[in-house]
Amino acid sequence: MPATAIVNVGAMISGDVRAPLHRASSVLIEDGRIAAVGPDDAAVARATTVIDANGMTLIPGLIDSHTHPAIGEFTPRLNTVGWIESYLNGGITSMVSTGELHVPGRPRDPAGVKALAILAAKSYRNAPPSGVKMMGGTLILEPGLVEADFAEVAAHGVKAVKFIQEIADRAEAIQFSRWAKKHGLKVLIHCGGTSLPDVPTTTAKTIMEIEPDVLAHLNGGPTSLSFDDIDLLIRQTPWIIDLVRFGNPRAVLQMVKTILELDALERVVLGTDSPTGNGMEPLGMLHLLTFLASCTALPAEVAVCMATGNTARVYGFDTGFIAPGRAADLALIDAARGSYAPDALGGFALGDSPSVAMVMINGEIVVARSKMTVPTQRFYRFVRKG
Ligand SMILES: [Zn+2]
Repeated sequence: MPATAIVNVGAMISGDVRAPLHRASSVLIEDGRIAAVGPDDAAVARATTVIDANGMTLIPGLIDSHTHPAIGEFTPRLNTVGWIESYLNGGITSMVSTGELHVPGRPRDPAGVKALAILAAKSYRNAPPSGVKMMGGTLILEPGLVEADFAEVAAHGVKAVKFIQEIADRAEAIQFSRWAKKHGLKVLIHCGGTSLPDVPTTTAKTIMEIEPDVLAHLNGGPTSLSFDDIDLLIRQTPWIIDLVRFGNPRAVLQMVKTILELDALERVVLGTDSPTGNGMEPLGMLHLLTFLASCTALPAEVAVCMATGNTARVYGFDTGFIAPGRAADLALIDAARGSYAPDALGGFALGDSPSVAMVMINGEIVVARSKMTVPTQRFYRFVRKG
């Protein structure tokens, strides 16, 4: 069985917010999955390919918890193609769609929203763009859906629903949330101000009535709820806190304080909320991690686990952890050349976004050298190439 070993790793991030750093300097990959963390010398000797990481940092591939894909790698609002490959070069190997909102002429009737969700779910599952694992096809909720619609989309592989707009009938909205959960669908809700002309501003009260699973862009998308409402939702509910790059940065500072006070590390997932009118940002996840690690009390390695293992757990990805049995979706990162930081974690903490040396999906190298980041201080080499 062909195996790959990555040896001489500096810091290795586990994906687990409670134990973010592995005490190991090597991993063994077999059949696209992590076979061992810290394998013995004999296992490494048997590997057909051995990569010397040269002391760089190994992390699980980043999972962007908040994206707005459309179809393939085309993003209609920016009239741009190839955005997902660009994000892959920023260390992102999986993504969650929080609704295919930007499809031109997006349908608003039950048949149309179902069709769009099923098409996106199947298209992205059948053909992962640039290899990136996209959980596509989040059903955008519109008035008139009935329980059979939730059952139908779930049967076709849709994993989540999203409240982005006012369902005028509050009882209907609450019913939607219950039906979604009954059929195993995650309930996401837009938090904050109006993002598109048809998206209303929400409040903690209207959000709490719905009882979602995920508070999508709780720090705003792009404008936030009042800071009191944000605090209320963090303190008085158990729901997942989705924190995004294109939100309100000052809200993030307050939110992290509360999250640390409550020791609610497992509740946080990280995303970009892109591509949107704010643009596309291939390094958005790295920049968000850098902001968190350099401007809040959150340790960099914990923040990386929020962007990997936490998101994998919430959405059922078979990745996000460097642990036996998980898909070998990995990134080798290091301090950027020219940065005063000694390594990637130091770069995050210093405020210098680290660079990406290599990205792997299912044990295959998909980015041999990032075209998006500046060069890394060190670089890996093949000891043996099978
Ligand atoms: Zn969004």
